[in-house]
Amino acid sequence: MARLVLLGTKGGPSLRASGASFLPTSSHLSIAGRSIIIDCGLGVTAGMVKAGYPLTGLTDVFITHYHSDHVLEFGGLLHTAWTAGLDHQVPVYGPPGLELIWQRFCEMMEFDIAIRIKDEGRPSLAPLVTVSIYHAKTPDPVKLVDDNGFCVSAMRNDHPPIDDSYALRFDAVGKSVTFSGDTRYVPALADFARNSDVLVHEAMLAKGVEHAVAKTKTGDERLKQHLLTSHSLAEDVGRIASAANVGHLVLHHLIPPERNICNDEEWQAEVSRSFDGRCSVGCDGMVIDF
Ligand SMILES: [Zn+2]
Ligand SMILES: [Zn+2]
Repeated sequence: MARLVLLGTKGGPSLRASGASFLPTSSHLSIAGRSIIIDCGLGVTAGMVKAGYPLTGLTDVFITHYHSDHVLEFGGLLHTAWTAGLDHQVPVYGPPGLELIWQRFCEMMEFDIAIRIKDEGRPSLAPLVTVSIYHAKTPDPVKLVDDNGFCVSAMRNDHPPIDDSYALRFDAVGKSVTFSGDTRYVPALADFARNSDVLVHEAMLAKGVEHAVAKTKTGDERLKQHLLTSHSLAEDVGRIASAANVGHLVLHHLIPPERNICNDEEWQAEVSRSFDGRCSVGCDGMVIDF
C-alpha cells in the first residue's frame, strides 16, 4: 500500500484566513519504505510531523519549480530534520538552481549551524544533503530515479514565465501517482499520467480568478493574466484525468482555496463536465491510500 498526505493545498504563497486549504503546496508520499516530500511550501515541516512522519525518517525531497509557494521552506525542512537528529543522507531533486538555493540557505544559517555543531556535537549539515539537478529541454519525460523498482520521472509542463517547471510521476510496488505541478492545460500530461492510481492536479475555477484579482484591491490585470496563462481550469483538469484513465483525481493548489467562495460541490460540478471517475477536492491533511 502507498499513502499520500496532502500537507498544503492552497494555490499561491499568501496566508490568509484559516480553512480547509490554508497552507501553500507540499505533499508527503509514503511508498516502498520511503518517506518523500514533494514541494516545500510554508508549513511543510510541521505538516509532515503532524501527519505522523518523523523528520528523521525523511528519505527524499523533490521540488517541481521555484515559485516560493513550492520552495520557501526547503531549507527549513532539512535544517529542522537535522536538529531533530537526521543521521543519513537525503537526496534532493530539483530543476537547475537548487544547488544555489541550498548553498545560500546554509550560508544564511551559518552562525546557527556552526554553534550547534560546536555546542551540541551535531554532525555537519551540508554533507547530509545531496543535490541532484534534473532538466528537460522538451516535454519528453526524463528519468530521475530508477532504484530497485522505485522510479521517478519528470515531464516539463507549461507554467510561464518559468521555463523549468515540471510534473512528477512516482512508480513503485505496482502503484503510481502523478503530480501535475503548476501548469496550464497541457494535453500531453495525460500520456505522462497514463493509468496512474492517483493524479494530483492543480486546479482553478474562473470564479476564483475574479476573487483572487479582487483581493489585490488594485484589481491587478497582470495577476489575472498570470493565472489564466499559467494555471489549469478544473474542467480541463477533468479532461486530463479522463484521457489518462486515472483511478482517482485529487484537486490541489486550489484557486480559490476559500470554500466560502467556491465550495466542494462547485469544484466537483466543474470537473464532472469532463470526468466521471472518482474525484476529491484536496484539503490540508487529506490522506489518500492507494
Ligand atoms: Zn504555485
Ligand atoms: Zn508556480
